[in-house]
Amino acid sequence: MIPVCEPLLSEAARRYVDECLRTGWISSAGRFITEFEERWAAYCGMDHGVAVSNGTAALELALEALDLTPGDEVILPTFTIVSCALAVVRARATPVLVDSDPVTWCLDVAQLRARIGPRTRAIMPVHIYGHPVDMDPVLELARAHGLTVVEDAAEAHGATYKGRRVGGLGDLSCFSFYANKIISTGEGGMVLARRVEHADRLRALRNLCFGAERRFVHAAAGHNYRLTNLQAAIGVAQVESIDEHLRRKRWMGRAYSDRLRGLAQLTLPAEAGWARSVYWMYGVVLADDVGYDAAEFARRLRQEGVETRPFFVGMHEQPVFRERGLFAGERYPVAERLSRRGLYLPSGLTLTEAQVEAVSQAVRQVLERSS
Ligand SMILES: *Cc1c(COP(=O)(O)O)cnc(C)c1O
Repeated sequence: MIPVCEPLLSEAARRYVDECLRTGWISSAGRFITEFEERWAAYCGMDHGVAVSNGTAALELALEALDLTPGDEVILPTFTIVSCALAVVRARATPVLVDSDPVTWCLDVAQLRARIGPRTRAIMPVHIYGHPVDMDPVLELARAHGLTVVEDAAEAHGATYKGRRVGGLGDLSCFSFYANKIISTGEGGMVLARRVEHADRLRALRNLCFGAERRFVHAAAGHNYRLTNLQAAIGVAQVESIDEHLRRKRWMGRAYSDRLRGLAQLTLPAEAGWARSVYWMYGVVLADDVGYDAAEFARRLRQEGVETRPFFVGMHEQPVFRERGLFAGERYPVAERLSRRGLYLPSGLTLTEAQVEAVSQAVRQVLERSS
């Protein structure tokens, strides 16, 4: 089987981890933590970086740092990972959903505008599968209504919007460094912040809100969401080799598109004129006249030796939120169609040309058989 995703590790990663082992700095203090934070923030064009244990923790801390109160609303796309909506709920606020743009699969900006109301406090744009959100109208709406923008850039390290890197466009941004992300620390995450008040708050929340005067006197309820120096050591090496990772992802995007373009049964990932996508995952969507759904497509591809992964299921269709009385009766047709008809092809960082060729041939064969 061709791997759907896997990390790419450099010799430097081994050296830096070895330094941690030799010096004993294996826990959550050490030079690699600050170096990773500073370098990643600088790469994205943000002022502060706060490394945390994973991307879900990053989203939770970012939302918690906004000091939302019950009844406050945060607008986010329905088509995303559950972490986004959970972070809003755990911050005691109400998630308000918008549908996806049919071309970029990111949040629909016109719907976003329509859903801003008196209780809206923040917007969470999610750069889906490596493609940036159309950020200028989002930032303009935020400015006009005094809203905070929390980017979820966990799938789009290094992607650019009108020449500016994602994760450097909003007030706060969240990254994951899980094994299948564009750069990885095994498990890991980071919140980037523009304002020092946010960064200070995030650092406190990450580490149990220890007291400034008396360490074991706590004025607020924090978490242990610390990253280790060992993980950050890998992170620094990953930042150093990100250009190579992005080169491989962009090559993969082109290689698949060159081979699959012209198949009437498939929609391929778009790249808007203002975007530089990093093709975190190469997603395809079945046309409506194909007589089966993505689950059946995945089963048929598997028979040809090609492993795939399904697309997200919208937050409005999640039992965990329905049980809480959220999103009752809401419909988001674009997201629903994506979740039923979309899947992604093997998109690992070590994918070879022969593998892209084999996957593309299998896709063609399966589709030709069914037409
Ligand atoms: C992976 C991912 C996360 C969560 O990251 P973890 O490190 O797995 O917790 C958050 N948002 C998006 C869009 C993701 O793809």
